[in-house]
This record gives sequence, structure tokens and C-alpha cells, in this order.
Amino acid sequence: MATVASTTNPDRLSSLNPATGEVVGTVPVHTPAEVDAVVARARIAAHAWSQLSFEARAEELTAFRKALAAHADELADLLHRENGKPELEAYTEVMMALGHLKEAVGRAETAMAPKKVSSGMLANYRATISYHPLGVIGVIGPWNYPLNTPMGSIAYALAAGNAVVFKPSELTPLIAVKLAEIAAKTFALPDLLQVVTGAGSTGAALAKSGVDKIAFTGSAATGKRVMMAAAERLTPVLLELGGKDPMIVAEDADLDKAAEACVYGALTNAGQACVSVERVYVADAVHDRFVEEVVKHVRELKIGGDDGHLGAMTSSAQVAIVKDHLDDAIAKGAKVHTGGPDAISGNYIQPTVLTGVDHKMKVMNDETFGPVIPIQRVGSIDEAVKLANDSKYGLGSTVFGGKAARSIAARIRAGMTSVNSVLGFAGIPSLPFGGIGDSGFGRIHGDEGIREFTRTKSTAEQMLSIPMNMMSFRQPKDMPKKLRGMIKQLYGDGVVAKATDGWRRFRAGK
Ligand code: NDP
Repeated sequence: MATVASTTNPDRLSSLNPATGEVVGTVPVHTPAEVDAVVARARIAAHAWSQLSFEARAEELTAFRKALAAHADELADLLHRENGKPELEAYTEVMMALGHLKEAVGRAETAMAPKKVSSGMLANYRATISYHPLGVIGVIGPWNYPLNTPMGSIAYALAAGNAVVFKPSELTPLIAVKLAEIAAKTFALPDLLQVVTGAGSTGAALAKSGVDKIAFTGSAATGKRVMMAAAERLTPVLLELGGKDPMIVAEDADLDKAAEACVYGALTNAGQACVSVERVYVADAVHDRFVEEVVKHVRELKIGGDDGHLGAMTSSAQVAIVKDHLDDAIAKGAKVHTGGPDAISGNYIQPTVLTGVDHKMKVMNDETFGPVIPIQRVGSIDEAVKLANDSKYGLGSTVFGGKAARSIAARIRAGMTSVNSVLGFAGIPSLPFGGIGDSGFGRIHGDEGIREFTRTKSTAEQMLSIPMNMMSFRQPKDMPKKLRGMIKQLYGDGVVAKATDGWRRFRAGK
């Protein structure tokens, strides 16, 4: 990655401030052998941790949360300097990450409570589903939300009784190292949450290390590589990948609110969010007014500085992708209302509003992951839904509208939808978070997020013996006849006599 420079020591990586290019700190490059050693230590911690009661784990995780809260300034400062996000967004990220820790602790016991289920025909059985920790979870995180996104897996994995080995992006390793330092000081088991650092090869080593599950957040291309590496040992994977989230604005939407939400949803974290609003479909009748509102909001934003609304892009490689999407759209006829490729300076991109866009353009198909709002005029809601669903991705989505908003939302093929708000699903930690298609599979957050890091066990216990025991070869001679009757009675039309007569005729070749 362009923003990571090698230091004089090849065994270490430098983390750079994307706004200034200054070195914020360095971290070691862990080799596959070192990753294996870390995983082996985590396995010992996992065993001890899994033996504790929910209450005992909750006590330690709460102490961890409080320790992180006590370091909030330091964490936010690291996020600001290492990732480039402004102060406000850095504190928001710390707050969201701690919210997950609280949520996960609060719901682990209920989410993992054994469930008694119907035993169906085996009425003399007691049927139970129970959930157990997997062991060691490998978490591979991205650079855009280097604390909150991995915490969406780490918190739930720990609360479910697992140990965690976390590999952060090479662009943002320092925040992860800080997290592990605080964890080591807080937990009685210092190896419960460990961090390995390095480039992609360290992540690949973790995927192959024999952990019990990999929770990966990043691009679809890397997600496929992780899945292939994990396949060697049949290690299960949870993939939280990219998105091309649509927003639909219906004719009867509150346009002021829709425009404000659109601007925040598309531009928060300088558009470097997997659930950013990446494309907008607006009803013909309100298109021009909506565009006007959006442009007005965008022009009020401050770019750069500690107190800016948008910070520097974290990686210059991402700046190049955004510029390519803008150039492609303009060459194919898009109109620039504000910003544009000429307004890019170093790692700063001026937020850009485009109209006259269509699905032949990269900006409407590929993940832009930058501060760009492409707005397409649509003739009907059916057209908007069709276009919204015309994507290989399916992560988040947004609908603004009147009475029909909820039914429009139901027609969108995505893992999550916010109705008359933006990113609401990401702010509610009890809602499962994840996508379909190229956006990945599996769910973090909520009860599903806890159970992602457990193995499901089914137990069938015979409570009393009955004369008809199907789990035995010692059956009466007329058992096939009885079963034929039962099949018809239980699963067919219930007319036993007719069915058996038919069977006799069939057997006799009549
Ligand atoms: P990448 O796919 O480039 O990297 C993600 C992580 O994988 C990094 O830690 C990276 O390390 C590591 N990695 C790279 N190569 C390998 C490998 N061969 N084996 C194992 N690990 C590897 O994604 P980005 O960091 O660029 O993150 C941005 C992407 O993440 C966007 O597409 C975004 O949409 C998605 N995302 C999805 C979210 C979701 O919840 N669905 C949330 C946030 C982001 P290194 O950086 O050191 O190369």
C-alpha cells in the first residue's frame, strides 16, 4: 500500500499519517511461525476462558470496556493520526466500538441459552439445542474503521467464550496494538486478545494457522483469497466485504431530511465505509430539488483540519480508484455539480456530486469508497428498485419515502435497509450486520453475531421407552405395512386403506 513506507528495518512496518506523511509509529512484521505461536498461546487462554461462567466473563469484559473508555482520548488520537479521520469521527468510532463491547456482554448468555425444541414424532425424547465457544477466532480487519469494525467481531467472539487473534490492516496497525496492550493489562489471561501485525502475508498465515474460525472484513478480492487459504483446513469463514449501497428517494419523501441523510451517508469517513451511500435513485418529479439540496449541504462542509467534516483519505491507492471512477463517469457524460477530479489534492478529495449517471459507469457499479454522490433520475419506483438490485453486492441500502417506503425497502435485495434514516442499521448493535452476494456472508452484531462464534450442538435424550422403538433392528414382521400406513396418514392424504390397496395392486403388477 502506498502510504506504508518501509523503515530501515525490514522486519518492521511504519504506520503513516495520511494527512501529513509523518511516521506515527512502527510495528513488527510477524512471520507465519510467530503467528502459529500466538495462536497456540491463544488456544490455552481459550480453554480457560471457555470454562468461566457468563458472569465471570462479563466482569472481565466490563473491566476491559472501562479501561478502553479511560483511554478514549489516546484511542481517538491514534485513529485521527493513523487513519486520517477528523476528531469527531474518531470519537464516534471509539464510542461505537465500546457500544459493541457492552452489547455483546449484555446478550451473550441469552443468545447462547440452550433451547428446548419440539421432538416431533419422537415424542418420548427431549430435544435441545445448545451453543458452545469455538475456541480461537482469527479476526482480520480493514483500515477504514480500524477499531469499530474488528470490535464488531472481537467483542462478540470474546463474549461467546472464545480467545481472539487480531490482524489489523498494515495501514492502521497502531490502534490494534494499543487495544491488545490494554487487553493484556486488563484480562487475567493476557493471551486472550492478541494482535499480530504485518502485511497481507501475516493475514494469510493467520487464515492458514488452524484457528477455529476466521472473521474477515475487507474487499471481496481478498475475502476470496482468505476463503481459499482457510479451505486447506476447512476453517469456517465469516466474510464482511464491500458494498455498492443504493438509496432510493420517492416522490413523497421529505426532501430536506433525505438530502441531509444522503450527504452524511455518502460522505461520513470521507465515503470510506462499506455501508456508504454509493448511488442514489431519485424520482423524476423531485430530482432537481433534491440535487439542489444535496449540493447546498455539501458546500457547507469543511474539508481537512482536526475539526473538519471530512479528513484525508487513508490510502493514496484509494484516491486513485476514486479519480478513475470520476474520470470514467465524466467521459461517459456525467455532470459535476461540485468537487470533481480536478479538485483532488494529495490525499484530500473534495466531495463530489454527479448527475446524469447510469449503470454503464464504474461509479454506479464498482465500489468507489470515496466522497462521491452519483444521483440518477428514475421514472418510477419500479425502475428505482430494479436499478438498486442491479448489483453483485448486497450490503446496506436506504429508502426515503411516504407510505410506500416500507414496502420499497422490502423489495431491496440487501442484508440491511434503513427507512427514512441513513445507516440506522449500523447504529443499532442488536441488529445483525452483513450482506449477500459479493458483500459476503455470515452476520456480526446482535444474537446472530454471538452465535456466529459458537458451535451448535443438538442433543436428543430419550426420556421414556415406548413399545415402538424405531432405533432398533428388532421390529415386528408387519412393520413395513405399519410404516406404509403411517406415511400416508402423517404425510399423505390420510386415507390409509386406499393407499395400501393401491400398493398391493402395484406390487401385483395390476
Ligand atoms: P483489503 O481486502 O485490502 O484488506 C483487508 C484485510 O485483509 C487487511 O488487514 C489486509 O492486510 C488483509 N489481507 C490482505 N491480503 C490478505 C491475504 N492474502 N490473506 C489474509 N489477509 C489479507 O481491504 P481494505 O483494508 O482495503 O478494506 C476496505 C474494504 O473493506 C472495502 O471493500 C470495504 O467495503 C470493506 N469493508 C467491509 C465492511 C463490512 O462490514 N462489510 C466494513 C468495512 C470495510 P493489509 O492491509 O496488511 O494488506
